[in-house]
Amino acid sequence: MSKKQIAQNRAGELRDRIQDYLDVKDTIPRGMARTHQEQSAEKKRRILAHLKGTEENWNDYRWQLKNRISDVDTLLELVSLEEAEVQAVHKVAKKYRWSISPYYLSLIDDNNRYDPIKLQSIPIVAELIEEGLADPMAEEYTNPAGAITRRYPDRVIINVTNQCAMYCRHCQRRRNIGSDDHHTSKRQLEESIAYIKANPEIRDVLVTGGDALLLSDATLDWLLGELHAIESVDYVRLGSRVLVTMPQRITDRLVNILKKYPPLYINTQFNHPKELTPEAKEACDKLANAGIPLGNQAVLLNGINNDKYVMRLLNQELLKFRIRPYYIFHAKRVMGTTHFRTSVDEGIEIMEYLRGYTSGMAIPTYIINAPQGHGKTPIAPQYLISRGKNSIMIRTWEGKVFEYPNAPTRDLERFF
Ligand code: SF4
Repeated sequence: MSKKQIAQNRAGELRDRIQDYLDVKDTIPRGMARTHQEQSAEKKRRILAHLKGTEENWNDYRWQLKNRISDVDTLLELVSLEEAEVQAVHKVAKKYRWSISPYYLSLIDDNNRYDPIKLQSIPIVAELIEEGLADPMAEEYTNPAGAITRRYPDRVIINVTNQCAMYCRHCQRRRNIGSDDHHTSKRQLEESIAYIKANPEIRDVLVTGGDALLLSDATLDWLLGELHAIESVDYVRLGSRVLVTMPQRITDRLVNILKKYPPLYINTQFNHPKELTPEAKEACDKLANAGIPLGNQAVLLNGINNDKYVMRLLNQELLKFRIRPYYIFHAKRVMGTTHFRTSVDEGIEIMEYLRGYTSGMAIPTYIINAPQGHGKTPIAPQYLISRGKNSIMIRTWEGKVFEYPNAPTRDLERFF
């Protein structure tokens, strides 16, 4: 057989490896698909008519925030729900807050009972299952000063607000979402800054909440300026889901503020390819063009993305938006959200069908948060089968097993 023929046979074999994915890929709802854009444009018209808003209002994040849908009557005007679903919203609302930005609501497909946008935004009765913990990460024991959470040697979190553009049903910080919105006080922020200054081993600061980009432009400008001025802080990360739930927040004014403080990173949370819409793309483009790297921290969610094909498509689509897939979090045992949890086996299977089957750039790290805040623990399929003194046994993404030499590292001194 010629070399060309061997290569052609191998190419055919490789294509066959992803034939199952190619067969289903186009059936997965995608925010960039024309059918979904038409559907959400129609819903947007209905929402604007109901709320008596204009196109200009729609593009204004203040209008989006002010007009969040949080009463059942308005919801019923805008989304088709069965009677049992309506009753569920009433019941859950007595215990947990809910609120949806008009933009995110416009992405719901009324014809799909299990629409991933609907599942992330409209309460269902499963939230009342009495299991899980309010604070599985024991965050209350990791707050040494101000609004700081410290779980690692060289980095801290500052919790700047409990406000979000909407209240996601799977929220892993649900206990922070009280009955009202409030930003962290200036005094607490100042105390947090003082703590970071007094502990120069802290080189990485994550500003989050709630949603960090729900702070006003002026407060963000001040806070980022203060952090930027601390010599021992190498960079700041912002945790925000507005790219998914209210991309209108990414105004030119905001981008001009953010780009004053490099290196600044934004981590967001897209969980399904349907959330990657033209509006989200415009917002991502603005940030990426301003030199702000974007990362995604998806949560593995039952009924939304616990599917090897959905997760593969999500991560591939993210790269088109210039967002690097960073983590897939295994959902924690948070009270009110346990119906979203999946088995760890499912997570491992998803990872198995990413490695090799798609680009390494599209492969995030699958993480389990160890109980009581003991840290992020990476979980991966087993590729290292055994480890001997002189050789190891490895398994490739295709399941082929090889022995690989494990020779000692050479002492470079010998060559000089
Ligand atoms: S945006 Fe984040 S913090 Fe806010 S409700 Fe959603 S998941 Fe929770």
